[in-house]
Amino acid sequence: MLLKRRPSSAPPKQPTSVLNKRRKRLVQVDSDQSDSDSAYDDNDEDFDAEDYDSDGYPIPKKKQKHDKRKEAKRAALNDLTIHNNRELPPPLPKDYNPIKVLKSKFKVPFKDTTDVAQSVVPSSRTLGIRRRLHIAARALHDWNADGSIVLYDPEKDEPKSENSTPEEPKEEVKSNHLKGGKSLAELLGTKKVEHKKGHVVVDPVLSKVLRPHQIDGVKFLYRCTTGKIHPNAYGCIMADEMGLGKTLQCIALMWTLLRQSGEIGKPTIEKAIIVCPSSLVRNWANELVKWLGPNRIRPLAIDGKANKEKVTADMKQWGSAQGRMVVNPVLIISYETLRSYCPILKNSQIGLLLCDEGHRLKNGNSLTFQALNSLLVQRRVILSGTPIQNDLSEYFSLLNFANPGLLGTPNEFRKNYEIPILRGRDADATQKDHETSDQKLSELWAIVSKFIIRRTNDILSKYLPVKFEHVVFCKLSPLQLDLYNVFITSKAMQRLLRGQGSQPLKAITMLKKLVNHPDLLNLPEEIRGSEDVLPSHYHTQGRHRVISPEFSGKMMVLDRMLTKINKETDDKIVIISNYTQSLDLIEKYCRQRSYGSLRLDGSMTINKRQKLVDKFNDPNGNEFIFLLSSKAGGCGLNLIGANRLVLFDPDWNPAADQQALARVWRDGQKKDCYIYRLIATGTIEEKIFQRQSHKQSLSSCVVDESTDTERHFSLSDLRQLFMYNSETNCDTHDTFKCKRCAEGKSVQDVESMQYGDTSSWDHYDEKLQDLPDAILSEEAGKGIVSFVFQYISHLR
Ligand SMILES: [Zn+2]
Repeated sequence: MLLKRRPSSAPPKQPTSVLNKRRKRLVQVDSDQSDSDSAYDDNDEDFDAEDYDSDGYPIPKKKQKHDKRKEAKRAALNDLTIHNNRELPPPLPKDYNPIKVLKSKFKVPFKDTTDVAQSVVPSSRTLGIRRRLHIAARALHDWNADGSIVLYDPEKDEPKSENSTPEEPKEEVKSNHLKGGKSLAELLGTKKVEHKKGHVVVDPVLSKVLRPHQIDGVKFLYRCTTGKIHPNAYGCIMADEMGLGKTLQCIALMWTLLRQSGEIGKPTIEKAIIVCPSSLVRNWANELVKWLGPNRIRPLAIDGKANKEKVTADMKQWGSAQGRMVVNPVLIISYETLRSYCPILKNSQIGLLLCDEGHRLKNGNSLTFQALNSLLVQRRVILSGTPIQNDLSEYFSLLNFANPGLLGTPNEFRKNYEIPILRGRDADATQKDHETSDQKLSELWAIVSKFIIRRTNDILSKYLPVKFEHVVFCKLSPLQLDLYNVFITSKAMQRLLRGQGSQPLKAITMLKKLVNHPDLLNLPEEIRGSEDVLPSHYHTQGRHRVISPEFSGKMMVLDRMLTKINKETDDKIVIISNYTQSLDLIEKYCRQRSYGSLRLDGSMTINKRQKLVDKFNDPNGNEFIFLLSSKAGGCGLNLIGANRLVLFDPDWNPAADQQALARVWRDGQKKDCYIYRLIATGTIEEKIFQRQSHKQSLSSCVVDESTDTERHFSLSDLRQLFMYNSETNCDTHDTFKCKRCAEGKSVQDVESMQYGDTSSWDHYDEKLQDLPDAILSEEAGKGIVSFVFQYISHLR
């Protein structure tokens, strides 16, 4: 009897009063054992399970009945009080037989089947996985509604001759024919509803937040992944620059494919995998919830916290689930983990694979590439901010992953495209090489452009304030200059340059530290002979010496800028470095100057990071400076509380710098933004920066199809890493052989400024006072800033 009355699990949102009554009822059962079973059935009616459906929600009844019940309840309560006055529990009666109680017939707690139908059908709740009653499949979203984004229109997008399924629709049309010879649908103009085919429409919850360029992006992704562009190619590369919402566009694609297809009521795919760096697994899960809401999708995020058995079980379950058994349609997982679990998934059909930070697939021979390539998944989308990191063969790799075989085998690609294109890009190339290179490039572009989408940050100018980005070339301080010379003329260095040394990386690191600040080196031990050039007061201050900005050119500039920004504006600033040691130094300097600062480390948990970011972005917060290590995985960090950003040193990898730079000029920013990328003039940093531009111009060349990017460097230039050019104001500018510059700044405008090509930016040599940024123009005449490249996102 008791079994019948108690719901199998605690119902949600049940008022406590009901629970109390239930408890009391149990008491009553215990105390009234002498009564017959039927007594409960009669008296207890208003507590009966029929008041609640299987989920524990009350089923509304007619008011009349309700009033009657109220009385009954009151009576029952009176009864209870009386019972409760007795001593509890009373002894069980002699004839009490628990077996009999348990064996008694189970009664379905609904009155009859018609009641069931009434209570279930109008509410959309279903019990378990019972098949739905026959309700004709309807389109999920109204394609005709205001602002709806139609990805597929059966009328327009379907080629008339093939693919249309003539039999079924014909019959339907026939049956609907009126005597006049026209179908009702035709008369009403709703004929397409009769067909099983339907529109694919982006969920309104997403379409209302998508920006115009994102709508284009989603349309592109949809066309590629549904084979509309090429019948044998289902992959593509989403290569938008940072800050354009690649994540949101991909979520829109995935969500649409999971819910809809050209046929009403049928999804295109059942399951999708998002593979990303492990630090972004949580981030993706959060983004899904952020854009789709907490109840629409339950992703399975494998974030490395669960133990191996649990993950294995989860993966097996995920891999084998099909149809209605798919509970978590989206698996979010890191590259490393997915790689090791690929064998488990080897036989399961996967609808879509999204590869975030997809340049991990740049090497076709890598284990990750091979493992992921073995998955049974046709639709593959690679997300990457910079598709080319090093060379065209890496680029080929990405495309070959997305669309296997589209560009031929790796060898064919090398012969047909890579070699001729690169030959023409060398500064020593002949005119004919240039021509062949350009021709091959446009040939490649003709194929590739169909499957790659790349928009630059310029698009954001419609929504964002102006961004002034500067590359600021700073001369070395006299001490740095002396140390630099001692170092590169040292015997160890000479051996290295003759190819006899063994540690070029160590030498590079030491030079990079030196140009940041001599204090980053352990002097005089680390540079033999440096004791001769160190000023007398250098040693005396010991380990805990104060940070002296005047020992470093870049530090002097930073110091002056911070002073001015702090004094004259209420702007906040982000300072980024590759070296935690440099950040230590700047942090110490901030304390010295009493600047409030926050610092984000690579070791911090995601949660802690978010708190730190929120604290900084709070307009009432006291922290003026946010210190960020570019190695801390800053991707996704939103630091729009600041509108200024200093990149204290360049990275070899332009993608890393681009990620760092995209922290402040992004959605939500209200102030004009000022970006300063500090480079030590004539030093190794210029070479690093030049190598970056080289890569970037190659990238913008292939990806943006700009064939007129000036050809800056011969490959041999890049081997000049350790040369110090003391004669120049800007070694990089010298390599441009710039014809626009005269009298200290660029006087001639370029037709269009290209972000990836600093030779097309504004150049300021001596006339720094003409710079629009009041902070940087102060450097005029101070003798440290020797050159500035300036990029302006757009004119107001
Ligand atoms: Zn110039």
